[in-house]
Amino acid sequence: MFVLVDGARHDVVRHLLDRGDLPEMSRWVLEPGGMTVGTTVYPSTTGVAYIPFLYGAFPGTAGVPGIRWLDRALVSGGLTAQWRGARSYCGVQAGLINSDLGCGPSIFELVPESYAICTPLTNGLRPGAHLIPGKRALLGALAHYAGTYPALDRAVSEAWLDLAAQDWRFLFVVFPGPDGLAHLYDPWHPKVLESIREIDRALGAFARRASRTGDDPVLIVASDHGASVMRHHEDVALRLEEWGVPTLRHPVHVWRRGARAAVMVSGNAGVQVYFDPRSGRATPLTEGDLPHDLVDRLVALPAVRVAAYRDDTGGVIVRTGEARARLRDDAGLVRYEPLAGDPLGLGGPLLLEDREMLLRSRVTDVPDAPRQLLQLFRTARAGDIALGARLGSDFRGPWEIPEHKAGHGSVIADHAEVPILASVPLPEAPLRTVDLMPSMLELLGVPVPEGTDGVPFSRLAALAPAPA
Ligand SMILES: [Zn+2]
Repeated sequence: MFVLVDGARHDVVRHLLDRGDLPEMSRWVLEPGGMTVGTTVYPSTTGVAYIPFLYGAFPGTAGVPGIRWLDRALVSGGLTAQWRGARSYCGVQAGLINSDLGCGPSIFELVPESYAICTPLTNGLRPGAHLIPGKRALLGALAHYAGTYPALDRAVSEAWLDLAAQDWRFLFVVFPGPDGLAHLYDPWHPKVLESIREIDRALGAFARRASRTGDDPVLIVASDHGASVMRHHEDVALRLEEWGVPTLRHPVHVWRRGARAAVMVSGNAGVQVYFDPRSGRATPLTEGDLPHDLVDRLVALPAVRVAAYRDDTGGVIVRTGEARARLRDDAGLVRYEPLAGDPLGLGGPLLLEDREMLLRSRVTDVPDAPRQLLQLFRTARAGDIALGARLGSDFRGPWEIPEHKAGHGSVIADHAEVPILASVPLPEAPLRTVDLMPSMLELLGVPVPEGTDGVPFSRLAALAPAPA
């Protein structure tokens, strides 16, 4: 039983647990299992950050590099193609994420007796196994504009409780409320805290009913990303226009005439920029062909914590202000090679096994950034340059409706770190959200497919150093 508490910060969940405000999670999840702080993917944004839970894959592996991205081939076509090519899963194109996914199979395919409530990712669900899709569409749209997330979460709770006494093997239940309310207020707002308490009550009702008809269900509770308050809105699209660069962007400038750049925002603290979007060029630019003047100006924006782009030899260049470094997958290891300064704060050049690099990066302000920046550029669909915002900043102007006071999307700890709670023992090693899908498959006795980015708990426990 997987419960996705969208956008809940780990310290908010910890705070509520410590106050005794989440008695059901304590009873059904923490007591038999435990809690840890894991890391999500980049960009750390709703929908994209669900891919790990269902596919055990990074967004770059899945070919879905953001909640908005540019299809370079389509966007140079006719008016309809241009609209479709400027992909945005926020709105009427939302369902396209399922056909865009280039990875698989999903856990729904591997466990046919699955049900899901309120998920945008539905590949592999049998007909009728995605519950309340109509309410999700209707109440979801209403909640987005009117802030009525509690009504949406209540509909999820009711459908969830109805399932408790039925035959199921895997359940995927999404509560969008905490994220939606955090965007409108802030991640610590009383309304956000109350929405998490409501989820706790729903979990208790479900677990009691489910345990009456069989064993206690195995429960895993996690969030897809963190969130932070945004005081500084650095609208990259408007900034480019100001610099004389006509810029294709959402929501209404997707047909921008003479566009020399396209700006695709996720979260809103992650943005990817594509240069000369209507050139018909299907391949991304690498360092040597980038417009260096524009790149330098983007990197220098005070809102940027990390800028990254492809180098000419299959690696990724990472920049922060004057600092720059190269990342590379190197014969099964991850290589971090500072060229000037130390943009990821790792202390110097490193050549480490993936999980050791994860552990090392967890103490920096950009946990798991080496792996996350490398995975993003695995897909040619990712932008020519990706910018992750500094704490307190994002990349979309205050014009957005509804006004957003908080957000996520960057590689910074406030966005990357997520709570992971499980009613089974958790390994000592640092976890990624991508590890949960193979771990759930193991619990279900289903073989983990080859090529999964995540590592199951059993293998992580074997990797962890013995306690001293
Ligand atoms: Zn989310």
